[in-house]
Amino acid sequence: MKKFCIDPGHGGNSIGASYKGRKEQDDCLRLSLAVKEILLTQKDVEVMLSREDDTNPSLEDRAREANAWGADYFISVHRNAFAPNKAQGVEAWVFSKVVVGGITFSQAEEIVNDLCAAAGFVNRGVKLGAPSYTDYAVNRLTNMSSCLLEVGFIDSDSDNAIFDAYFADIALSIAKSLLKNVGLEYIPPVIVGDVDGDGKVTAADARLILRASVGLEEIDLETGDIDGDGKITSSDARAALRISTGLEE
Ligand SMILES: [Zn+2]
Repeated sequence: MKKFCIDPGHGGNSIGASYKGRKEQDDCLRLSLAVKEILLTQKDVEVMLSREDDTNPSLEDRAREANAWGADYFISVHRNAFAPNKAQGVEAWVFSKVVVGGITFSQAEEIVNDLCAAAGFVNRGVKLGAPSYTDYAVNRLTNMSSCLLEVGFIDSDSDNAIFDAYFADIALSIAKSLLKNVGLEYIPPVIVGDVDGDGKVTAADARLILRASVGLEEIDLETGDIDGDGKITSSDARAALRISTGLEE
C-alpha cells in the first residue's frame, strides 16, 4: 500500500495569492481533490488530504498528520504570484538539504517536467529551500519525500488559461507522476462501453459492440456487456449509442 498526502495550500482565512477575483486557496483545493480522485482509481493506493474544505490547518498540523499517518510522499499544491503578467510557469520547491539529483529532487523534477509536457506550462525547474527564507515548513517538518508545487502563476492570464483549459490533464499528470515516484504505474480505469479504449463511449464503440454481437468482432466482455447479462448483444450496442449521446449514464 502506498500512501500519498496531498496538501492543498492555504484555506479558510488564508486565501493565498489572488488575482481578478480568483483565489489561490480555491485552485489548490480543486486540483488536489481531482488528483485524489484519480489516485483512488488505482490499486494499492491511499490518499489523505490535509484539508478537504475551506479550512486552514496550521503548517505544523499538516506536516504532523502526514508524519503520523506514515505517508510515502507529501505534495503541497500552490499557485505562484509575482506581478500581473510578469512571470509564468511551474516550479517545485524541495527541502534545502536535499541532494540535487538525489531521490527527492528527482521526484519533484519528474512532477514538474511531466506537468509542463502535459499542459504546456513554462518549466521553471526544481529549487532548494524557499524564495525568501530557508525552507517551506511543509518540506522542513515532513519526514518523507516531499515537494511544494507551484502550478503556474495565478496573476498570469496565460497560466490561468492553461490551468482552466487543461485542468483534467494537469490533475492526471500529477497523479501519474506521484505513482511513478513510488514505483507504481498508472492504469486507466475500465469504462464499461469503451470498447476501443479511448477513454470515452462513442458511436464507434456502439458499432464495435454491434459487430461483436453478430460474431464479426472479438471484444472484451467486461467492457462490451453493458447490460450485464453475460453476453454481447444488440441491446448492448443500443445502450452504448445512448451513452454516447448522453441519453444514458
Ligand atoms: Zn501558496
